Amino acid sequence: MSTSDAKQSKPSVTNPMPPMYPGGMRIGEEEEQAVLEVMRSKRLFRYYGPNQGSSKVDELEKAFSDFMGSRYSVAVTSGTAALISGLAALGVGPGDEVIVPAYTWIASASAVVAVGGVPIMAEVDESLTLDVADVTSKISPYTRAMIPVHMRGAPARMDELMALAKQHGLGVLEDTAQANGASFNGQRLGTIGDIGAFSLQFNKMITSGEGGMVITSDENLYQRTLMYHDVVGGIRNNIPSDQILAGVNYRMPELLGAVALVQLKRLDALLEDMRHRKQVIKEGMSDVARRKGVQFRVLNDPQGDAAIALIFFMPDSATAQPVSKALRAEGISNFVMYSPTSSDYHVYAHWSPILNQRTWSEQGGPWKNHPRKVTYSTDMCPQTLDLLGRAIHIDISPELDSQTVEEITEGLNKVLESMA
Ligand SMILES: *Cc1c(COP(=O)(O)O)cnc(C)c1O
Repeated sequence: MSTSDAKQSKPSVTNPMPPMYPGGMRIGEEEEQAVLEVMRSKRLFRYYGPNQGSSKVDELEKAFSDFMGSRYSVAVTSGTAALISGLAALGVGPGDEVIVPAYTWIASASAVVAVGGVPIMAEVDESLTLDVADVTSKISPYTRAMIPVHMRGAPARMDELMALAKQHGLGVLEDTAQANGASFNGQRLGTIGDIGAFSLQFNKMITSGEGGMVITSDENLYQRTLMYHDVVGGIRNNIPSDQILAGVNYRMPELLGAVALVQLKRLDALLEDMRHRKQVIKEGMSDVARRKGVQFRVLNDPQGDAAIALIFFMPDSATAQPVSKALRAEGISNFVMYSPTSSDYHVYAHWSPILNQRTWSEQGGPWKNHPRKVTYSTDMCPQTLDLLGRAIHIDISPELDSQTVEEITEGLNKVLESMA
């Protein structure tokens, strides 16, 4: 027996932490019923079927707008499709640059490339959302829009970003894929910029497996989204033929609409459950955090946080890794948000297809004929890598029971207390 065996004790957390599928874990009879209803009607397509009846996707769009406080919603097939449709609506295309955070799911940048634009990565600050000063420094004569991304449930600095966008005449597309239902200064995220894009993929707050939503209160942007996301959207919506633009097909099927509509009704309860659990854990560790120099992620609006995650910064990455390991030994699932060696498409340094400007055409992609030379490197946003490299991330599942919440708090205290 080695001496280390003597130190081994029971982990703080008794049961495995629930998986992080907030809406997904609550799929129940209502979803089953809604799907059955669609199947029995044989109307799987939103616009027609053998039987009369209302469209679930129609209902979803209305309910989503009501919930968010936007004039219009358009249901699509994914969050990426929502971003691409939003960029198309804003008129982004070849020759345009779009500022995206260096920390976001790669889809925020891929969407820009998909419409022929050039993504320009900007640093995130201690809120892990766009750093306003760095965004300002990245604005060029070619900048057309920016995509603030409300990462891990929490709002970007929308007041300052909107002022900056206005000053430079930039479009603002809010990527709200990870913050469905969250808000900034009392306004739901996605309604502050020109357009909001949401995802209903299985990991997100509420889900239909795959799916997405575009919201806006601008009539013109709405018309353009209708035209883009549906090849016949122009004709279908009585847009004069000389004004119709070529679109694609990202229309949401009725089966997804049926599930998403039920899930939307679960969103308020999910938010409440996550917010409560996060608050208990955060308060329970705040004393030891203060004494040990551990800093919580900055929340630009604590009330508006969707509370899907608890994130705190260690003094450096050399401390973060062993602390993460010690927490895992206590039964607390967690991870350090950036490591150069483990590939994660949430961090720009791992976006190899973007960094290497690899495109589908042998003639070259959006960078080839861009009016200025844009180059990328893995170390171009050092502030983002520093922050993520010492950030510890813990999922806050709405399914965490009160015993586990208590045990997580205990484990966090134990591990942080033992730090030198
Ligand atoms: C998930 C996600 C997307 C893409 O959504 P999909 O539905 O997977 O296409 C875009 N941006 C962010 C920040 C995301 O987390």
